[in-house]
Amino acid sequence: MSFVFGPVPSRRLGVSLGIDIVPRKYCTLDCIYCEVCKTDNLTIEQEDYYDINEIINEVKEKYLPLKDSLDVVTITGSGEPTLNKSIDVIVKKLKTFVTHPIALLTNSTLFYDEEVRQKVKIFDIIVPSLDAANEKIFKKINKPSKEINFSRMIEGLITFSNEYRGKLILEILLLEGVNEHQEHLDQLVEIIKNMKYDIVQLNTAFRPTAYKNVKRLDDIQLLDIALFFNEKGVKVEPVKNFISKNIPKNIMNDIFNKMLNMRPLSENDIVELFGEAFLKNLSQNTSLEIFKYNGETFFKKI
Ligand code: SF4
Repeated sequence: MSFVFGPVPSRRLGVSLGIDIVPRKYCTLDCIYCEVCKTDNLTIEQEDYYDINEIINEVKEKYLPLKDSLDVVTITGSGEPTLNKSIDVIVKKLKTFVTHPIALLTNSTLFYDEEVRQKVKIFDIIVPSLDAANEKIFKKINKPSKEINFSRMIEGLITFSNEYRGKLILEILLLEGVNEHQEHLDQLVEIIKNMKYDIVQLNTAFRPTAYKNVKRLDDIQLLDIALFFNEKGVKVEPVKNFISKNIPKNIMNDIFNKMLNMRPLSENDIVELFGEAFLKNLSQNTSLEIFKYNGETFFKKI
């Protein structure tokens, strides 16, 4: 049995050493987009799945030699980590030798339980997910265990976000024809307005999914939704984190303009996303203002 995986480069958190503390696909949900597989053990029962010392010893052995190359240690994996009843004890023990921030990726379905909320407060970073703003879409995209009550779950997430003192990154995974339509986005904004968070990250199905016919959004759709959230006062992750680097030439200008509507872009952002040649051409663009900030050159719309 191996509990540790990686290091893996994570779009969200940097270079991460992963720790899996529940058996494969023990989960409260059976998300149609799951990258692992369909859920065989749909449950909300919290258990002590493993000997804690076995987990800690393996992490110690693998973490220490890798230490200098990491940004974060993450409790995540192939099931829902809050199903491990001793999650708080494991993190307390990890903190005796891990000097990096410890993050939790969770589907947040058990945050209605005050005891779970208390246990996970020990994490430095929490990335809860919220893909649905109503029960119908929740059932469609997340296929929950019958014991999960949607309204109670949302209340738990909102309560937790207001109690938690660490960094909270809310992740929303959007799929074509499932949860990306305007009425649903409006409902998501209403929920997010009640939450305390650091940033919202928009995601889509970038890898093969557990169920068939799951359609990811393209970069432009994600960008449009990010702009919409931004207009509504939601803090959305800088777009470069989900825009691919292989933007087709014919839509570069369109994407560039949409990004500038949201925030100024640095020279580095532009080179990374659009290339050197695109940056050079911008010097002739009279609709842009160029300014310096912290020694970096930025572009914004006049
Ligand atoms: S919550 Fe995570 S592990 Fe569980 S089914 Fe959804 S994506 Fe897969």
